[in-house]
Amino acid sequence: MATEVNVLELTRKLLAFNTINPPGQERQCARYIGKLLEDGGFKVAYYDFAESRTSLIARLDGRTDRPPICFSGHLDTVPLGAESWSRDPFSGEVDGNRIYGRGASDMKSGVAAMVGAALRLRKTFQEKAGVTFIFTAGEETGSQGASHLAGLSGVLGLCGALVVGEPTANYPLVGHKGSLWLEIETTGTTAHGSMPEQGDNAIYKAVEAVDKLQNFDFNIAAHPFLGEPTLNVGTIAGGLNINSVPDRAVVGVDIRTLPDLPNEAVFEKIRSYLAEDVKIKPIVDMASVTTDPENEWVQAVFDIMESFLGKRPEPRGVAYFTDASVLTTAFDLPPTIIMGPGEPSMAHKTDEFCRVSKIEEAMEAYFDIAKKWCEG
Ligand SMILES: [Zn+2]
Repeated sequence: MATEVNVLELTRKLLAFNTINPPGQERQCARYIGKLLEDGGFKVAYYDFAESRTSLIARLDGRTDRPPICFSGHLDTVPLGAESWSRDPFSGEVDGNRIYGRGASDMKSGVAAMVGAALRLRKTFQEKAGVTFIFTAGEETGSQGASHLAGLSGVLGLCGALVVGEPTANYPLVGHKGSLWLEIETTGTTAHGSMPEQGDNAIYKAVEAVDKLQNFDFNIAAHPFLGEPTLNVGTIAGGLNINSVPDRAVVGVDIRTLPDLPNEAVFEKIRSYLAEDVKIKPIVDMASVTTDPENEWVQAVFDIMESFLGKRPEPRGVAYFTDASVLTTAFDLPPTIIMGPGEPSMAHKTDEFCRVSKIEEAMEAYFDIAKKWCEG
């Protein structure tokens, strides 16, 4: 029976599975982790949202009077990018205190640390509250794996507290902004480019919309730890050839939202703000996630992390979204911490690395957090 794992070795093993998304192909990686946990005494189940797109849930059932604590991470990574790497992205090259590879920070190191904590927990586990590990496929392209699990009846079960292992260099964050990506479409009437007066130019309408969006005012106070909401026009496309009046243009808008002005409210605001003949379609719609920093469990996590970080954590959040958007909604909003060993600045970068010492520290921290919950 597997008991303790070397988390550095495990991180290297996980990096060797190419789970670049698209296309993802997380199945082998999921099966590898599942086997370790099954051998370690966990109940493991696999869920495919598409061919070879596998998420897994591993449980250690415990007392029924207290819900389990859940830990979650994603198995996919982003593509390597256009720039060439000076390190092999899949071999888990170690140089001093750094391990390199695609997913080293985001977030196979976090998954490895969770698996390490899980296997160690099993050894000391008896008559305690349960613990659940959720490892998802397809997070990087909009939390497809997590959404799939949330949509399956009775699969996720209960959750009393949630830890999501995204890269924070082990700083426990108490929230993130929501994301609302919109596709804004304008339409017109095509005509020959030499006779524009016979057409209706969709690009001109798109430009008008972009111009208005630049001046959009959310009209909301900054959140205490998430700051201001933001809006960015990320893409624009329209027209088929120079000598025609374009009859269609599409603008892509990325909005990061706050709990006090949730996605639906922003959507309505934008819709009434833009011209009536503009079509708006949400492409990504992920709720913000926040937990009251004074929550008892959050304070218990801060107690634990104070000893690792050398100072007491303060309430902080981030702008990017995580699977927590989907999971917290599915779980009826448990207190949630985002914390993982990866370097936040390394996510999605060329020559991505994670500090080896942070992976070991994360395993210790996850173990302590789980133990504290299960014994509570
Ligand atoms: Zn991630």
